[in-house]
This record gives sequence, C-alpha cells and structure tokens, in this order.
Amino acid sequence: MFVNPFRQQGNWYRGNLHTHTRASDGQASVEERIRQYRNEGYDVLAITDHGVTSEVADFSTDEMLLLDGVEVSSAASGGAPFYHFVCLNVHPDATVPGSPSPNDVIAWAKKEGGESLLAHPYWSGNDAQDLLAVHGHVGVEVYNAGCRNINKACSSVHWDNMLNKGARTPGIAVDDVHSAEGQGGDLFGGWVMLKMPELSAPAVLEALRTGCHYCSCGPRVLDFGLLEGKAYVQCEPAREVHLMGANWHGLSCCARGDGLLREAQAEVDAEWKYVRAEVVDAEGRRAWTNPIYL
Ligand SMILES: [Zn+2]
Ligand SMILES: [Zn+2]
Repeated sequence: MFVNPFRQQGNWYRGNLHTHTRASDGQASVEERIRQYRNEGYDVLAITDHGVTSEVADFSTDEMLLLDGVEVSSAASGGAPFYHFVCLNVHPDATVPGSPSPNDVIAWAKKEGGESLLAHPYWSGNDAQDLLAVHGHVGVEVYNAGCRNINKACSSVHWDNMLNKGARTPGIAVDDVHSAEGQGGDLFGGWVMLKMPELSAPAVLEALRTGCHYCSCGPRVLDFGLLEGKAYVQCEPAREVHLMGANWHGLSCCARGDGLLREAQAEVDAEWKYVRAEVVDAEGRRAWTNPIYL
C-alpha cells in the first residue's frame, strides 16, 4: 500500500488534519482557525470537532483546501479499549454514530465518503493489542501536539509496535489544536507533507491511503529511498538521523560537537522487514518518513 512520496510526481502540500473549534472544546471559532492556518501558509486544513461534523469544504480556495471532518470516540464500556478516530471528508449531513465500536467508526467514515486516522494512541492508553484490533483506517498519529500538555505527544513506540507486528500503517503528525493562540504548543506543532498531483480532497484521500507523505514538527526531509542494498535519507541540517527497521534493526547517526548532519545511510536486508527514517533537528523537533518494505 505504501508509495514512496520522494519517487512520485507532484507537489508537496502541508496539512493539519486534526483541529478543534468552539463547535466542541476548542477555543477559537471556525473562521479564526481557518485564518490562523491560512496566514501560516498551510495548504490543507481539516476541521474535526468532537461528535459534530464540520461544514467548511465550500470555503476552499485555490490556495487552501478545507476538509469537512469529525472526531469520533468509540464506546469504552466494561473496560474495553478506548479509541478516538479523526474522520476526514465525511459528508456534513452524516449522522455521527453515538456509541460505536472502533471498527464501526472506520467503516462509517468510508461509507460517508471519507477515511479515518487513529488518534493519539499514547494519550488513549492503547497497547499493541488494542492497535492491532482495528482495521481499515489510513494512519496512526505518531505525533499529536495537543498531547504535549501531558508529555504524551510522541507515539512512535506505539507505531513501531504496529509495524513490527505487520500492520502496514502510515504515520501522521497533527496539531489537535484546542487553545486559542497555540498556548502549550498545539498550533503549528506537527503537520503532514502530502505529495499530490493536485490540491483536492480526492488527492488527499489517495495520498493518505497510499502513505504518500511524510510528517514533521520542523525539519524537512529532502529524499529517502533505497539504492544498491542501502537505505538513505537526506534532510535539512539535523542533530540526529535514524534509520529504523523491525525489532533490533536500525542505525542511529548523531552529529559530533556543534556539527549537523544532512544525510545518513545504512545497509539493509530482508531481516529488517522495513526501513523508516526519523530526523531530529537542533531544536529537538522531529520528522518521520513512512516505511519502505524490504
Ligand atoms: Zn482525541
Ligand atoms: Zn482532537
């Protein structure tokens, strides 16, 4: 299912796919949110309040695509695992399911014309068994800036556990912004870079379904691929560059002294199962590529 975005034709588009407004527990109006992201130069913004579908797609412009969406919580009675799903491009008149099972949320999003992301697994307390029990979503939040307030923004171990067990799930970084002006770092804290032939909702859905993107909190990834038995990554100047595979497979490169790295490479083989790249810049901000399977 994975397409390497660095080998695809098209342009890069920066998007935030998880956003709250006063329609639920966010502290800015829909109009204010759109203005914030437009002023920051984002290309794609999804408004995804809790339990209520947004109706913003008609306000898209040539410069900025707006996606209707909703965040849906699964039923968690009787000690069942608890999930949040960000449902994107669902019809604004669709009836949001009241107390659904997790797989019903995923199916509902598809039925209503969209797709879903598995939100903030660290915050939700999802273990590997929970994460492998849900099927058909198009990505898991490897980074959720809204969870910085409890130091659980980064779910990379959860993601690796899924990949290790064979779930071919892309990683996504999002803001999950609730604050008015980004207090706590939940505005412009994490985003996805989508490689697409055009700026449209069908193109976003296709890029998500095929993992044709990478995500970042700051650094840009310039290239990532395989060549003659080696995986390589090129990036903006970074303190650390990691190439990571299943279980104990991987290679970490760390800059010495005040130096910075712009690339790394590692010999890889089938025992790695896959390789993904993770970059850390001088401010500690990360970027993640999706895996390439070996
Ligand atoms: Zn949530
Ligand atoms: Zn949320």
